Amino acid sequence: MLVVDLLTDILLYLDVKSRPVAVLRANHVIFCEAEDFNKRHIFALCLQTPAMKSSPHEVKLKLGSRGTSVEQWICICSCNAGQSGYCEHVVADLLYVNW
Ligand SMILES: [Zn+2]
Repeated sequence: MLVVDLLTDILLYLDVKSRPVAVLRANHVIFCEAEDFNKRHIFALCLQTPAMKSSPHEVKLKLGSRGTSVEQWICICSCNAGQSGYCEHVVADLLYVNW
């Protein structure tokens, strides 16, 4: 796991061009809550950037138990690119839970 200081520097580095960081910094993650005791199953809502008044995207992160390989993580979003698991909303929420 990254130390907080390094994560902060990474976010600063990415800030200029990164859409997920822009989503995070614009406070578009409007809801984020763990669904389990270990805080490894997370549900989040993220505003749609071009259509802020539309229903927010739903993001589900299932990170498995501690030590689970990242290849086994299941991350999905309700946006068009969300089934890939790598849309800006998924990445923004992964960053958000470490913020
Ligand atoms: Zn998405």
